[in-house]
Amino acid sequence: MHRDKTKVVRIGDVVIGGGNPILIQSMTNTKTQNAAATIAQIKRLEAAGCEIIRCTVPDMEAAQAIALIKKEIVIPLVADIHFDYKMAIAAMENGADKIRINPGNIGSREKVAEVVKVAKERAIPIRVGVNSGSLEKELVERYHGVTAEGIVESALDKVHIIEDLGYDNMVISIKSSDVMMCVRAHELLAGRTQYPLHVGITESGTVTSGNIKSAVGLGIILNQGIGDTIRVSLTGDPVEEIKSAKLILRTLGLRKGGIEVVSCPTCGRTNIDLIGLANQVENMVQGYDLDIKVAVMGCAVNGPGEAKEADIGIAGGIDEGLLIKKGEIIKKVPERELLNTLKHELDNWK
Ligand code: SF4
Repeated sequence: MHRDKTKVVRIGDVVIGGGNPILIQSMTNTKTQNAAATIAQIKRLEAAGCEIIRCTVPDMEAAQAIALIKKEIVIPLVADIHFDYKMAIAAMENGADKIRINPGNIGSREKVAEVVKVAKERAIPIRVGVNSGSLEKELVERYHGVTAEGIVESALDKVHIIEDLGYDNMVISIKSSDVMMCVRAHELLAGRTQYPLHVGITESGTVTSGNIKSAVGLGIILNQGIGDTIRVSLTGDPVEEIKSAKLILRTLGLRKGGIEVVSCPTCGRTNIDLIGLANQVENMVQGYDLDIKVAVMGCAVNGPGEAKEADIGIAGGIDEGLLIKKGEIIKKVPERELLNTLKHELDNWK
């Protein structure tokens, strides 16, 4: 796929932009001040495949906790700051690898300049974030409401403030919970900037609606070559965000590796607990570093055909299933042993 050649930006030990792989981000929902809880959550996210983590830094205690958190985690940490420029500076002094600010709510140019000065000294990138919900009144009036054009103009205004202060180590994020407005805004912005873009659909909802809105929105945006990091925002466990983000990238062919599970929708021909089995298989394959397809099919009518196209598969029968590997039927397995049999095959995959 064609990818926009954005500016390369280093965040801790990783680089984004310039056609580098799109990295998956999430945000902790623990209190950052509670370093132990935040570290535990980041470790779960790292294990799930999170590549950049963002933590809110609302006060000095949280800024100081960054130093403790950084000692225990592997992935780069982004400090999310609103309103108080001193928190941005404290977060950087405590080891944040990137800061996310909205210069619009940091206050005077002098305060933004103080933040930029420290970022420059430490070569820490600044993510300039703009959210449709906080679009300036003047832009809302000029564009007759909240529009993609207004969001883009707001973001570029903020970028120019930092550029005028002599700094261009930046990433931009623009957010809207209106999926198609968000898509349009990214299309417009990508045509007007070379900075890497962090892409996500904000406030997209609970796991089901958030996944659907994110998949549609991110799918359209990423498929145009736009986006350098992504976040799937869900009202739920952030680990779910990582699973969804990986699946979106894999579906678009933007990431290789990991087991793909295909399963049938079930119908009146299904005679095993296929829904339960498919869910168990999907969870079970998460930890494998194999680039293969696993089919979990309900019956012997369509099942074997689909399973044969996969690297390994199950086609359900009555209280049992056929195990099919590389196109060949291997054996019949009792229903209760199907999951373990599949696991054994994956453990010994050659
Ligand atoms: S694979 Fe079989 S059980 Fe599954 S939906 Fe198709 S016909 Fe029904």
